[in-house]
Amino acid sequence: ENLIEAQQITKRYASTTVLSDVDLHIRRGECLVLVGPSGAGKSTALRCLAGLEKLDAGSVVFQGETFVTPTGTRRHLGGAIGMVFQQFNLFPHLSVIENVVLAPRRVRRLPLPEARAKAEQLLDLVGLANRRDYYPHELSGGQQQRVAIARALAMEPTLMLFDEPTSSLDPEHTREVLRVMKQVVDLGMTVAVVTHEMSFARQSADRVVFMDDGRVLEEAPTERFFADP
Ligand code: ADP
Ligand code: ADP
Repeated sequence: ENLIEAQQITKRYASTTVLSDVDLHIRRGECLVLVGPSGAGKSTALRCLAGLEKLDAGSVVFQGETFVTPTGTRRHLGGAIGMVFQQFNLFPHLSVIENVVLAPRRVRRLPLPEARAKAEQLLDLVGLANRRDYYPHELSGGQQQRVAIARALAMEPTLMLFDEPTSSLDPEHTREVLRVMKQVVDLGMTVAVVTHEMSFARQSADRVVFMDDGRVLEEAPTERFFADP
């Protein structure tokens, strides 16, 4: 069963076509990894799925309902899609725990004790319970990214999208973040990841999609994708 489907989506920036007639689906409970050369349109595809881009053609269907069309983003999903970006985008003036508590408080109107309890549990999951009162600038890039993951999870999303979450990190911090992402996958969440980390794809993906030049060129179960020709 597909949780989300991009149907024949086309996306242009000025005269450049970045996505041409792309069909892409994510099944409930799976981990999909998107690979391909830089500029292929992977990040744009992920942002289209999240409803963050206006489409030139096609649509995105989420849980059986039309979510995005060329006229705009139709439904407000209330945090059902969580996204983690290459840049961590934490609020610099808020502590770690405040970063994680903010959205559940403001958007989901969760009472503070509940929101804090949830945040502490998630900080524990990402291995940062002991940094909860630090500020983002006091953390390494890898730690900041793990806070960003906890912050996204705090909204209890149905779908988690990761857009090159480790590409600004050194190898050690990359490993830390990939470990946390693997935990998220192992929780059974529906996940899509744009990454160049093939070891993560081999280990955690159920399916791999290869994009180039704004098109999906190959789509296969992980084992078959990496099998020798
Ligand atoms: P990938 O994630 O595969 O590296 P992107 O989706 O980031 O590819 O980008 C695909 C193409 O779209 C690139 O040529 C990029 O320069 C272009 N692009 C991405 N975002 C914008 C934008 N906001 N304005 C103009 N061009 C963009
Ligand atoms: P990535 O490919 O890793 O997603 P980029 O460095 O290509 O990141 O893009 C970073 C940001 O700049 C994104 O928000 C993207 O939409 C935007 N961007 C990328 N290419 C262009 C472009 N040619 N013109 C305007 N904005 C762009």
